[in-house]
Amino acid sequence: MNAATTTDDNPADILCRADDIAWIGFAPGIDYKVLRTSAETGTWTVMFRCAKGSEFPPHYHHGAGEYLMTKGVMDYRAGTAKAGDYGYEPLGVYHESTRFLEDSELLFTNHGPVAFVNPDMSIQMLLDWKFFADAAAQQKAAA
Ligand code: ZN
Repeated sequence: MNAATTTDDNPADILCRADDIAWIGFAPGIDYKVLRTSAETGTWTVMFRCAKGSEFPPHYHHGAGEYLMTKGVMDYRAGTAKAGDYGYEPLGVYHESTRFLEDSELLFTNHGPVAFVNPDMSIQMLLDWKFFADAAAQQKAAA
């Protein structure tokens, strides 16, 4: 047999109707939609919806991240991003906290895990492709 093997269930092309995907709760004031995950590369792409006053706790990027703000205002170490702004977060960067100053939405892709850390820098929670793949599978099963 000449069967090709793949380590990734994702098809080559994806056209995702994001408006048809329900939000999933993540933390107080923060929800997400899973647009794509890759077991092969560890990349995950989501939409985050973050209410005014919500925030992501301190974290390390164990993979570079990219975002496009589509609504609102986000304040973090690199500055204040507002709707229309793009940002790149390099591998290894540490963010003390990421706060949302208005009701916000952003498209976010991370090329690896994000680790939320305790004050002593031990890992509290790992956010990776598997976390989002499992959440999307649970959502699909419940629909
Ligand atoms: Zn960050």
